Amino acid sequence: MRNYNKTKRTLVTGGSGFLGSHLIDRLIANGNDVVCLDNFFTGTKANIDHLLDSKKFELLRHDITQPVFIEVDEIYNLASPASPIHYQYDPIHTLKTNVMGAMNIAGLARRIKAPIFHASTSEVYGDPLVHPQTEDYWGNVNPVGIRSCYDEGKRCAETILFDHHRQYAIDIRIGRIFNTYGPRMHPNDGRVVSNFIMQALNGENITIFGSGNQTRSFCYVDDLIEGFLRFMSLDSQNHNFPRVMNLGNPVEFSIMELAEMVIDLTGSQSKIIFNPLPSDDPKQRKPDISIAHANLQNWSPKVQLREGILKTINYFDQLLIKAA
Ligand code: NAD
Ligand code: UDP
Repeated sequence: MRNYNKTKRTLVTGGSGFLGSHLIDRLIANGNDVVCLDNFFTGTKANIDHLLDSKKFELLRHDITQPVFIEVDEIYNLASPASPIHYQYDPIHTLKTNVMGAMNIAGLARRIKAPIFHASTSEVYGDPLVHPQTEDYWGNVNPVGIRSCYDEGKRCAETILFDHHRQYAIDIRIGRIFNTYGPRMHPNDGRVVSNFIMQALNGENITIFGSGNQTRSFCYVDDLIEGFLRFMSLDSQNHNFPRVMNLGNPVEFSIMELAEMVIDLTGSQSKIIFNPLPSDDPKQRKPDISIAHANLQNWSPKVQLREGILKTINYFDQLLIKAA
């Protein structure tokens, strides 16, 4: 049944995860009613605990590899494990989540004529030979490596959405997200920011994989979510806009610089040690965000890495205090 009161109803898949829960907070603050769909593979009830009593929030335990029938006005598709240890835990299910999930969500959007924002990734560029990465770069991806379930799954999801856009005029918006961090990251997800902070707070060795010269560009979560909302707010009836945009912070850091910053900000006595680099680990990554800047009301990240890392350290510190 259509929603005849004026309140917008939004479906967020993967809504109990790191990014999804921040997105839902913003949507509810903006007055939307939100349905959070999640299978709780990597998401936690703690991330949405504060929403459970809200009349504007509904929780649906569901796996996106199965079709979903629901009436909403817009869809954000975030369901997918995001960290290498999580997406490599059950690579077949990662593929199904990204490929069948995209098919199911595109089918839903077609039935109910709702716009979709889809969370894609900088991993579609693989180990990039073009730097910084622009949206017209097709990427350098190993189709048979240990990261392929995620990288190729996300590439296929983009194809599914673009073909639904061309064939059925589905209103799609694809954000290629670059490394994002902040409170509510999973403390044991193996990502570099969470690993380094947890290691520093626990006085353990900081594990740099490889030489530490590889680079990433880290975006604070609030900046990223602002980009999602601006992308979804574009009016497809009245103007054409690019259907795929890089979303991330273009300021590039080496992994060694990040390790030193975390040690400095935590005041930790931890020592840096060097472990082997996992296979297919991209050497460099930095988004060109000129398309997002030009189309999303001059959007660009505002939070400096030191400021965002400090907020994230405080979050993990509180988690450790609660667990003690
Ligand atoms: P996350 O692991 O914290 O959240 C993902 C959520 O999806 C979790 O709540 C998980 O339980 C849920 N989920 C996984 N498989 C599902 C399934 N089959 N059915 C229903 N729910 C399922 O990760 P995140 O960092 O919040 O990432 C959210 C999205 O953004 C993902 O699609 C990810 O690929 C993308 N992304 C994130 C980053 C980043 O740096 N955080 C970078 C690039 C892309
Ligand atoms: N990394 C590291 N130590 C860790 C975890 C990760 O040196 O404890 C490196 C990893 O090899 C990669 C970078 O940090 O080069 C970012 O890794 P992450 O898993 O956070 O994200 P992605 O590789 O997907 O960008």
